[in-house]
Amino acid sequence: MSESVKGIGATAEAIAAAVRSGNASAEEITRAFLAHADKTAGMLGTYLHRMSEEALRAARAVDAKRASGAPLGALAGVPVAIKDNICIRGVPTTCGSTILEGYRPPYDAHVIERLRAADAVLVGKTNCDEFAMGSSTENSAYHPTKNPWDLARVPGGSSGGSAAAVAAREAPIAYGSDTGGSVRQPAAFCGVYGLKPTYGAVSRYGLVAFASSLDQIGPFARTARDTALAYNAVAGPDARDMTSRAEARPIDLAALEGGMKGLTIGIPRDLLEGEGLAPEIRACFDSAAAAFASHGARLIDVSLPSAKHAIATYYLIAPAEASSNLARYDGVRYGLRAGDGDLRAMYERTRGQGFGREVRRRILLGTYALSAGYYDAYYLRAQKVRTLVRGDFLKALSGADALLLPVTPTTAFGLGEKVEDPLAMYLNDIYSIPASLAGVPALSFPAGFGAAGLPIGLQLVGHPFAEETLLRIARAYETWCDAATKAPPIATEVSA
Ligand code: GLN
Repeated sequence: MSESVKGIGATAEAIAAAVRSGNASAEEITRAFLAHADKTAGMLGTYLHRMSEEALRAARAVDAKRASGAPLGALAGVPVAIKDNICIRGVPTTCGSTILEGYRPPYDAHVIERLRAADAVLVGKTNCDEFAMGSSTENSAYHPTKNPWDLARVPGGSSGGSAAAVAAREAPIAYGSDTGGSVRQPAAFCGVYGLKPTYGAVSRYGLVAFASSLDQIGPFARTARDTALAYNAVAGPDARDMTSRAEARPIDLAALEGGMKGLTIGIPRDLLEGEGLAPEIRACFDSAAAAFASHGARLIDVSLPSAKHAIATYYLIAPAEASSNLARYDGVRYGLRAGDGDLRAMYERTRGQGFGREVRRRILLGTYALSAGYYDAYYLRAQKVRTLVRGDFLKALSGADALLLPVTPTTAFGLGEKVEDPLAMYLNDIYSIPASLAGVPALSFPAGFGAAGLPIGLQLVGHPFAEETLLRIARAYETWCDAATKAPPIATEVSA
């Protein structure tokens, strides 16, 4: 086997090329990643369910396919971790909730069908905040996940397990879901790439719904090119999701090498002036902007005047949709059932015991916002503000190829630091939620490190279906900054 793909540091691109050409065996590669995760996953709390046996079986099938002379897919033999709110047939899917304990979906999500077709190897279901509600993975009903860079800190959320898995080299690629930042924020906290595709680019069929008008599945990876490969493997239309869009096209990997010349980057000054942005993140932002300019990009000032209302708007729309989506967990159809006898008492007991505090809070908020007499004042008004936020982005992007934003106001915070203060937790999403409301693509890329040695991510936001441009810019950045190549100690020392 060639040196470059032997270890857990290999990229998905290198692994797939080696497996396709017969220079590496998918089984050996899978064994290496599984053995590493045997050491790290328990310390980090990455998974809710590991799939080691299934993974080895799948890897052997890939090797047999290659031996038979059949062509292999774009992710041949690549270990991939999946957030636990994405359905895999026959595999426990809890969404980090007690209410779905014991539930095994009878079908594969669209993205899982696509990953199997690409000859990827699924290694496990990753931990997340319950029903993807949270920013720290502490709202999982099972256990928190720890940040691979500092085990006393959160990995971000809600897709914290997927971000930690990629940062700790347990898999070169993982998938999560992003409703208001749940791929981008943990990517930033863990020092990896995280892409929230354009709304409609990736089918939501088989993604357990949180807020359907915002939810998007997106990949985590350690290089810009791997992020593109991971996006290509799952993007494109699907008749089973009526919001899926035919405009989603695969990214051309050669185009990612185009550099910065001829590109215009918009800087939303008004958003940066708000209080709360840590000076070290601001400094990283300013030096990244200067580096883009020195490599040939043009910088222009843009404005996103409605973005300051984004958090308030999101916390009406997302809970409203969640309260309706979560009505289906009634003790009859899925997972947990608490008590029998009287039907109404069974519903109440099941939902009272099965949902955690944050989920109950959102159901109450959402039910209130949708109730007769309040609908116009809250939900309808929030929808109007949402239209303004989208308008702001399209206007800002009319003169720019992409906008540069922070992802988070600070680097990863401590475990337990914000659990008792939901508002502080919500405010953490101030830079990620606007692009979610607008439905435009947004990428978190590793941009540097803060004083405590913790990763800093920055965000590129683009035109609808222009994921390629975002990754081209991030790829250019990667060629002059090594932020993406550093590994947390746990990734190397534990297996040394
Ligand atoms: N942190 C946000 C929330 O709690 C976003 C979560 C997400 O994107 N799934 O709703």
